[in-house]
Amino acid sequence: MDAAKDITTPVAIVGGGPVGLVLALLLDFHGVNCTIFNTEPEARWHPKGNGQNARTMELYRRLGFSDAVRCLGLPADHPFDQAYFTRLCAHEIYRFAMPSRDQRIAMRRQMPVTDQLPEPMFHVNQMYVERFLLDRVRKLPSVDVRFGWQVDWFTQNESAVRLHAKKSDGSDEATFTAAYAVACDGGGSFMRKTLGIAYEGDVQKKDAYWAGQFFSIHMRIPDLYPKFVGHRRAWMYWAVNPDPHTRGVIFALNGVDEFMMLIKPERGKTDVDTAEVADWVKRTIGADIPVEILGYRPWSAGQALVAERYRAGRIFIAGDAAHLFTPTGGFGMNTGIDDSANLAWKLAAVLQGWGGPRLLDSYEAERKPIGYRNTGASRKYASRMHDAVVPDDVELDGPAGEAARTAAAKLSYVRFNHFNRAEDKDAVGVQIGGRYDGSPIIVPDGAPPPDIFPETYDEYFPSGLPGGRAPHLWLDERRVMGSSLYDKFGRGFTLLRFAGAPDTAAVERAAAARGMPLSLLDVPLREGRELYGRDLALIRPDQYIAWRGDQLPNDVDALLVRVTAY
Ligand SMILES: Cc1cc2nc3c(=O)[nH]c(=O)nc-3n(C[C@H](O)[C@H](O)[C@H](O)COP(=O)(O)OP(=O)(O)OC[C@H]3O[C@@H](n4cnc5c(N)ncnc54)[C@H](O)[C@@H]3O)c2cc1C
Repeated sequence: MDAAKDITTPVAIVGGGPVGLVLALLLDFHGVNCTIFNTEPEARWHPKGNGQNARTMELYRRLGFSDAVRCLGLPADHPFDQAYFTRLCAHEIYRFAMPSRDQRIAMRRQMPVTDQLPEPMFHVNQMYVERFLLDRVRKLPSVDVRFGWQVDWFTQNESAVRLHAKKSDGSDEATFTAAYAVACDGGGSFMRKTLGIAYEGDVQKKDAYWAGQFFSIHMRIPDLYPKFVGHRRAWMYWAVNPDPHTRGVIFALNGVDEFMMLIKPERGKTDVDTAEVADWVKRTIGADIPVEILGYRPWSAGQALVAERYRAGRIFIAGDAAHLFTPTGGFGMNTGIDDSANLAWKLAAVLQGWGGPRLLDSYEAERKPIGYRNTGASRKYASRMHDAVVPDDVELDGPAGEAARTAAAKLSYVRFNHFNRAEDKDAVGVQIGGRYDGSPIIVPDGAPPPDIFPETYDEYFPSGLPGGRAPHLWLDERRVMGSSLYDKFGRGFTLLRFAGAPDTAAVERAAAARGMPLSLLDVPLREGRELYGRDLALIRPDQYIAWRGDQLPNDVDALLVRVTAY
């Protein structure tokens, strides 16, 4: 052990959950080295979030591995249906049908040029994706991977952050000096608390199903498919019956024998053992079949919390450390991953000298309102789904049972269940409709922003108005990697030219003089000009529109200063 070790790194990422891992990958994409710390030596092997949303998937596409992520989890022909049963071995009540991965790929080929979901939401458990992301990160020479290292103190001054980390088994320790640090250390964030930054918002304790104490259970049930649900497979199986001990939802993880169950025990019970947990599972299934409990963890629902500040000096806060959600909608991790996309290019710009220090202030200005918006959306969806009073008859055979099941299919618990509801376009406004209107580095052009709050959570209006995500276009018929407008964007800024080839030499010269990465992209598609509403649009490295116009301003340098806060 060498306590005197002092290691220098441009960016220290504290926390190697999905948000920290994606930040490391994006920093590498933008040419920045970093060090990532994570208490546990390997990626967490317990199921959590089940949805990688459209924005997250398009970021994976930008990193070149969205297709590989789509190969994780369920087999290619497994449906993603959301199905409601009295118990899994008994009556089916209702089903939202969803295509398998193979069917979806076929559907993509039929999409119009202006399809806005090049990478629709994909349901795969976070634990598979985290392991995949860690494998990718471990292959990057730019990342010093310190899994199994816990950061236990830090200080900062005007020029650097100093952190101390110890190997979790006590075998090594070192201090690190970083230009910037990012706290991706989860909901209990030691970094955020040490900085004295509190969460704003509240925690819903009652009046909603998704409130209070839950358990997540990881289990192996080899007989479930062969004996009970193999002929009516779904990705999500809900139990709807009067027994409060079985009000659980089971997710297919690998499409064979591994499952996750979320269950709300009666009266916030936390003191349970493996036998009791297995009993909940068997009652939910409705059969006494072998259940191997691989792990179970308590967790709480009902939060809508956002950190008061996303920055303290040279330290930024991202992911659950910055916002805590109730799981309805599946927004927690996805919002955190988009925090990383917003922050990564700004850190790169400042460290590489083409962005001004104020650029980093725009992180909070842009992402904190999204934290509020998205936690609010989760809360709204959660409030639609109250605790159901399920009639006793629902489990009967015969006409009385049939009638009760028909009635149960109309319960808000079933129909308004927005916990990852099985439609691509569900909450599409939340997934890809976030906007940064009012940000100091966005150049507004006078047109009113599309109506976004709060009614449009379920809709997305593609718009060329600066401040929103760049509208998508397919550029050829194959609809594969390389066919999307996004695949043609540069790693830095991209100037889209929709009409002819106007003289853009002045902006190219100005960008080169500043060392600012700028690519030009001609898109001679009528649909492109229509969507963007101008002949030119300047796209940021995170695929958001910074500026648009029919011609470049006379002072192009002033434009570049504005969008990079130089
Ligand atoms: C049941 C359930 C279902 C969910 N469903 C969804 C969903 O469908 N979609 C969705 O988007 N989100 C979902 N979420 C939320 C999602 O799981 C979290 O938002 C996500 O894990 C947050 O990622 P993170 O990287 O910010 O933090 P975490 O995943 O909490 O990772 C933080 C990491 O930091 C490490 N760490 C902490 N302190 C230190 C330290 N001092 N030094 C070094 N390392 C440290 C921890 O070991 C941990 O690995 C769900 C959550 C639950 C519980």
